[in-house]
Amino acid sequence: MSDALMEHGELNLRRQHRQFAYEVLARMTKALTMSRNEISSCREHALRAAIHHARERSGWHGARLAHVDLKANFEQMLAAIPIMTKRDLIMNWNHIITSPDLDLLACQTHAEGLGCEPNYLNERYTVVKSGGSSGNPCVIAYDWDELAIMWASATRWYLQWHSPPKRGATRIGAVGADRAMHATAALRSIFASPFTTNASFPVTEGFASGIVNLQRFQPDILIGYPSAIRFFASAALKGDLFISPRVIITTSEILMPEARRVFKSAWTCLVVDTYGVSEFGNVAHGCGHCDAMHVNEDLFVIEPVDSAYRPIPAGTQSNSVLITALHPARLLPLFRYEITDRVILQEESQSCPCGSNFQQIGKVHGRSDDIFHYGGVAIHAHVFESVFGQFANILEYRVVQKSNGIIVDVHVDGHFEPQSLADALRLALGRAGFHGANIEIRSVPEVERTNLGKLRRFVAMTP
Ligand SMILES: [Zn+2]
Repeated sequence: MSDALMEHGELNLRRQHRQFAYEVLARMTKALTMSRNEISSCREHALRAAIHHARERSGWHGARLAHVDLKANFEQMLAAIPIMTKRDLIMNWNHIITSPDLDLLACQTHAEGLGCEPNYLNERYTVVKSGGSSGNPCVIAYDWDELAIMWASATRWYLQWHSPPKRGATRIGAVGADRAMHATAALRSIFASPFTTNASFPVTEGFASGIVNLQRFQPDILIGYPSAIRFFASAALKGDLFISPRVIITTSEILMPEARRVFKSAWTCLVVDTYGVSEFGNVAHGCGHCDAMHVNEDLFVIEPVDSAYRPIPAGTQSNSVLITALHPARLLPLFRYEITDRVILQEESQSCPCGSNFQQIGKVHGRSDDIFHYGGVAIHAHVFESVFGQFANILEYRVVQKSNGIIVDVHVDGHFEPQSLADALRLALGRAGFHGANIEIRSVPEVERTNLGKLRRFVAMTP
């Protein structure tokens, strides 16, 4: 919806919201160059305030956090907080929320009714629906100031790539969801600025029209799902699409090394990965100076843990990760909330040429939910990923677990031998302990996506 079509009250609210967001952005951009000591002090102060707020305003947290000593240091306070799961959130939503005028049913109804443009609930709240790739969709409500912080947490990283182009504003093309209930779409729409021109190319509208529209738009920055951008990169390599983005920012899905290579060969560009979580926003963001991502440490605490929730050292892949939001007045406070993503924290001594001292996080591997179990044998997603990486003509794929093997949907471009893929997968499965797998390869014009347009590569059988 353009500003001209909005009701006067709504327009005013959005203008105020944008103004507030620009002020937040200026403050948060300065925070990127904080020293390690400043970061530690900022986090301790924020955690104390967040616990205090949740104890005062949330019935559920009030009981769970009553014992935490607010005079203790950061590590002691954090260790005293019980771990929280998605089930806890879903079951106790109405007791966790800190605002008496919101409940789960109202938020769900609001999220279902959203069209392609975001709308404030009760003139201040934004409701987003998590992608639900783990099978449990959930709605999250963000207050006015939280949403501005969420926007600034990504935008502050963009500023270093903003050199005023000859033709005016930086043109940002987004490839992804077309529904405002997905957080990224809502953010782009609410905080549109005169310095950027935004356009969406929803994957749900098909790639053919995407090629035509992208060609017309000529993005400076292309942001979206790597599986979708990869399709456009292949079109560019074939001479079907002529665009020259300076930066590629990937979101929502895992950025595979082969996709990064394809982007680099298609365009002269920086490739920047991000780690976003619906329940929190933009947890980590690449800077373009290295392949890792910086954790937004002034906003989140992340704790990589093993399957028994014990901390694991830097450099080791976690089973899941506990995330705490440090925003001092969060609407839906989440402390040590388990996300089933596998992450690798990098050693603290590694400094980055971008000047940020925020901790770096390595490649985010497949979710721990992505493991296929066959009797006592567990097959991790990387068993498949390493095989698909050898087949350059596979644009995208999806592996669905069956009781005696797998069904693989592939979308290919160019020469492809299904038998070679089946043989390579069988060999890899055998090495991982699953012998004699039944493998069916299906060549499809488009791989099925979730209702948010996201590619869910691995679909495990539900027990
Ligand atoms: Zn950096």
